[in-house]
Amino acid sequence: MSDTKTYAGSCHCGQVAYEVEADLSRVISCNCSICRKRGLLAFVPEGNFRLAQGADVLTDYTFNKGVVHHLFCSRCGVGAFGRGTRPDGVTTVAFNVRCLDGVDLDGLNLRKFDGASL
Ligand SMILES: [Zn+2]
Repeated sequence: MSDTKTYAGSCHCGQVAYEVEADLSRVISCNCSICRKRGLLAFVPEGNFRLAQGADVLTDYTFNKGVVHHLFCSRCGVGAFGRGTRPDGVTTVAFNVRCLDGVDLDGLNLRKFDGASL
């Protein structure tokens, strides 16, 4: 049985809002230079993600090889999700689990990821 559920997520001011179908049994706590400042991530194929509003206020931030688009709200500054393309060509959405409604953050089983060493 899958634990996939539909969650609503948003930035702090609410201008960016989305729905995502995800299984939160695999949430990543990454120590790379940006994740340690931003939050807890989980990944889904783009088809599991629907941006409800906010495309007009998102700002794109890229660094290193520029392959991951770290989107953030230009009003409140919160990075609620990002997009990237895997080596196999599949577009993946990385969403900030801290931005989801109704998730018990202390109950998450975090997987540590050593992104700083990549
Ligand atoms: Zn915002």
